[in-house]
Amino acid sequence: MTSTLTPPTNPNVTPQTGDQRTILSALRSFLKDRVEPGAAERDQTGEFPHDIVRGLGELGIMGAQTPEAYGGSELDTATFAMIIEEIAAVDGSLCLTVASHNSLCQGHILIGGTEAQKRKLLPDLASARKLGAWGLTEPGSGSDSGGMASRAAEQPDGSWVLNGSKNFITQGSVGGTYVVLARTDPARAGKSKNDGISAFVFNRDEVQGFSIGRKEDKLGLRSSDTAQLIFEDIHLPADALLGERGNAFKDVMRVLDGGRVGIAAMGLGLGRAAFEYASRYTLGREQFGKPIAHNQNLAFRLADLDTRLEAARLLIRKAADLKDAGQNFTVPVARAKLFATTVGVEACDEAIQMLGGYGYVKEYPVERFWRDNRLTRIGEGTDEVQRLVISRDVLKRFAL
Ligand SMILES: Cc1cc2nc3c(=O)[nH]c(=O)nc-3n(C[C@H](O)[C@H](O)[C@H](O)COP(=O)(O)OP(=O)(O)OC[C@H]3O[C@@H](n4cnc5c(N)ncnc54)[C@H](O)[C@@H]3O)c2cc1C
Repeated sequence: MTSTLTPPTNPNVTPQTGDQRTILSALRSFLKDRVEPGAAERDQTGEFPHDIVRGLGELGIMGAQTPEAYGGSELDTATFAMIIEEIAAVDGSLCLTVASHNSLCQGHILIGGTEAQKRKLLPDLASARKLGAWGLTEPGSGSDSGGMASRAAEQPDGSWVLNGSKNFITQGSVGGTYVVLARTDPARAGKSKNDGISAFVFNRDEVQGFSIGRKEDKLGLRSSDTAQLIFEDIHLPADALLGERGNAFKDVMRVLDGGRVGIAAMGLGLGRAAFEYASRYTLGREQFGKPIAHNQNLAFRLADLDTRLEAARLLIRKAADLKDAGQNFTVPVARAKLFATTVGVEACDEAIQMLGGYGYVKEYPVERFWRDNRLTRIGEGTDEVQRLVISRDVLKRFAL
């Protein structure tokens, strides 16, 4: 079986700075030596790769965008997207771990945290001494996340008591630091149910009443950890509140905007891996006396995928640059996520088709790429949620 790791397909597309080349080159060596050899086996066993994650911590990847003052690498978002694309092209499960740990957990602490919270929590997260989880989704509230049932009640001394549960939480059972959302001011929900929600952050080893429920048995991303969180009278100190009381929803939206850059890049990376594998395979596989890639129908499908993957990369780059410029990137990143994950999943599906029966068996990696990539059209806002964001903007722009 050919390696899934190849030199960049088209180095002209995203010009890289010297720093980016250095980081990507170190990462690619790590992926080739430490990640790729066991990726298919971990997909079978579901084993969480603690050692690999620690190694990525040493490389600076687990605090990729966290400022150096808190132990991170302080990389820009375009570089982060390239990192995510590279990891996805080798191991989708590991990619989701890296993306959520960076963008969701650390992303929310960076947006809402006090200086004291950042100093206490970020160094352990950036080095991967602790893994970060972010709990928004609940059994009764997914896309409509403002409908959450978890509650935190303020006590006379300013501390909080948290009750409820969260579903589908990445790093749910292996996490050390948790950011969770809960309703603190139910009276404010009358106006909008997104009002009156607060965020809390805590280290698991510092609280009681926290337990892990069901661990999910998933279609793909099988060595990424996805679990239910259960909160039973968790006592949290006053300084566990993350951001402004009752106004966490706007921080959540910012966290998700940032997270969508990563999920878009993940969709692209997995799609790229499938496309590259299929390109090489179809040149090596002969039927009717010639390589199957020499049938124009097949070569044209490769051409379309090449073009669309490139377009996805540019949409991601645009959203990343707007984020770093401090501009609103909600709609650009919704477009990037919708397009990159659609094209990425299609590339995986096409790769299965181009490999024929070999695409359907586990000896070849493309079925794993498809299974892993299917999540990118669901997590951090489904396709439909991205279309809601984009269509609201379109209707506003063209309102009579
Ligand atoms: C592997 C995995 C990891 C995850 N990690 C995390 C995590 O770390 N933290 C976290 O908080 N959550 C996490 N999630 C949850 C994920 O974000 C949700 O699954 C996702 O937001 C969709 O919510 P839902 O599953 O409840 O689907 P629902 O919201 O019930 O949606 C079901 C379907 O209805 C559609 N739909 C809903 N509303 C509308 C509408 N208004 N218009 C049109 N269509 C609509 C949706 O697009 C979807 O197709 C994870 C999920 C998975 C599977």
